[in-house]
Order: sequence, then structure tokens, then C-alpha cells
Amino acid sequence: MKRLDVREFQKMIENASKIIIANEPYLTEIDTVIGDGDHGIGMKRGFSALCRMLEKQEFYEVDSLCKAVGIELVKSMGGASGVIFGTMFIGGLSKLPHENSCSLNQIAAYFEEGEKAIERRGKAGAGQKTMLDALIPAVESLKRSAGLEEEMEGAFLKACNAALEGVKASECMESKIGRSKNFREAAIGLPDPGAVSTSLIFKAFYEELIKEQ
Ligand code: ADP
Ligand code: MG
Repeated sequence: MKRLDVREFQKMIENASKIIIANEPYLTEIDTVIGDGDHGIGMKRGFSALCRMLEKQEFYEVDSLCKAVGIELVKSMGGASGVIFGTMFIGGLSKLPHENSCSLNQIAAYFEEGEKAIERRGKAGAGQKTMLDALIPAVESLKRSAGLEEEMEGAFLKACNAALEGVKASECMESKIGRSKNFREAAIGLPDPGAVSTSLIFKAFYEELIKEQ
């Protein structure tokens, strides 16, 4: 597949919502050890609201879909991760066309701009044990695939694997963002909850994309 259709993209985001909701206990478990324990609950709240919105509404342009997704997440999740995961979908909107499909180039540019917007808002970067440690490699992988004019399916598989490698790498990082010293030490050996969420989102995108229609 060379272009991603808005209906397909909507189904991919719906699948991501379901996977995030199903993983709430695991996300809560790791955030309980290394954070304040609310990541799973916040994500479940946001993605449940998103799921309800997507079930009710059909979108005809990729930018309108992604804008509504980001707004719903910010509105329903609250807290740091509401802004962060909302920005992942809103930050790069200018890179998407107001059309019923988009190219891999546009998808890669969209997630890259979203990632940069998260860096600007949260003043964090790679290697600080945040969701960026999964998102940055996923974006780099998408850009590489776009440069090689790969098919959508292969590109999302590679992005998903890159995000998973980022999750693995986050295990031995020390968190520097917003956590007390005690948490920082306890965090070593466990992946960052937000990075896990990011990899689950890309995995769900890929799995939906390759489903038989
Ligand atoms: P809160 O920090 O408000 O308790 P959550 O527990 O829901 O929010 O989310 C924590 C996750 O948010 C972390 O695991 C990390 O991935 C991500 N995160 C926190 N701060 C930042 C930041 N400045 N930049 C990027 N990601 C961040
Ligand atoms: Mg938390």
C-alpha cells in the first residue's frame, strides 16, 4: 500500500485505543514503581473517550481525523501525558493534507513535527527516559522508509520495532524528568511507561494495517 486512506487510519487509531485500554494494568504497574502510578489510568481514560468519539464519528480528511484525536486526548486525559500524547497527534497537523488519504512522506513528516512539538513543550530530549525514547526512533524509521519509498505496511512494521527497541533502551536509562531521586533509582531496569504506551500505539497501528479487510 502506497497511500494511507483516512478510513484505514481511523481504524488504526481505534485499534491503538483498544490496545492501550487493555494494557492499563501493566502501564499502572510500571508507573507505580517509577512514577506516581497514574499513567495507565490517565491513558485508559483518554483512549476510552477517544474510542467512543471514533465509534460515533466518521472522518473524511486525514488532518481532520488527527486534529479531533489530539483534541479528544488533551480534553479527556488531563495532566502531563494528556498534553504529551495530544501533542503527538496535533503538533504535526500542518504536514497532513486536507484529503482522504496521505503518503508515507506526509505521515513521517507529521509524526516528526509532533515529536518536535513534544520536545518543545516538555523541554525533554532523547535519553531522558520518556516516551520520546520510543517516539524518536519510530519517527526516524518512518523517515528512512519514506526516503526508500517503502510500502506503508513495511514502514509501520519497522517503526513499531524501532519503538520497541527504544522501550528496551529506556530500561537502563535514569529518568531526569519530573521524578524524585528515589524514583530515579527504582526506575533503572524498568521501561518508561510513556515509552511503552508509544510502542503499543505503533504496534496497534501495524497490526490493524495488515488485517485482512
Ligand atoms: P504525569 O507525569 O502527569 O504523572 P503520566 O504518569 O500519565 O503523567 O505520564 C508519565 C509519562 O509521561 C512518562 O512515562 C513519560 O514518558 C512522559 N513524560 C513526562 N514528562 C515528559 C516530557 N517532559 N517529555 C516527554 N514525555 C514526558
Ligand atoms: Mg504519572
